[in-house]
Amino acid sequence: MEDNSDLQWFWDTLDAHLSRQQLKQTKQRKVIVEHFLRLARHVDAEDLYRRVRGKGFKIGLATIYRTLNLLRDADLVTQHSFTDGRAIFEIKRPGTHHDHMVCSLCGIIQEFENDQIEVLQSKVAEDHGFTLTSHRLDLFGVCRGCHNEQSQQ
Ligand SMILES: [Zn+2]
Ligand SMILES: [Zn+2]
Repeated sequence: MEDNSDLQWFWDTLDAHLSRQQLKQTKQRKVIVEHFLRLARHVDAEDLYRRVRGKGFKIGLATIYRTLNLLRDADLVTQHSFTDGRAIFEIKRPGTHHDHMVCSLCGIIQEFENDQIEVLQSKVAEDHGFTLTSHRLDLFGVCRGCHNEQSQQ
């Protein structure tokens, strides 16, 4: 688990992006970003909405989405759509990379890194005369917990 306490770079990058776009840091936006950073690694936009509302902030779901889209445009978060079209956002740490495994039953998200897959992907791209700039690899299946539960029935 990575530590989210040292996120000054995140705020600095956001400030730089806002001033480039000639946007102001609003209180609502700040509240949303603070809650986003405090949540788990893979944040469901609607969970974030419920969390912020639960803390008594009157912020609409559309504002949550706008703020998350802003973070995506600032290259600070990656947006995923693993299952049933739900938008999942995660902090994009410069210089790091991982892929995901998603349980189709309970939706749990497992991160993984595999050097061989990384090398192979670059090679496949190269074989096709393709210069790789980024990739995402999502594996879908049934996690151990769900598998055990199924076999007990
Ligand atoms: Zn599962
Ligand atoms: Zn992840």
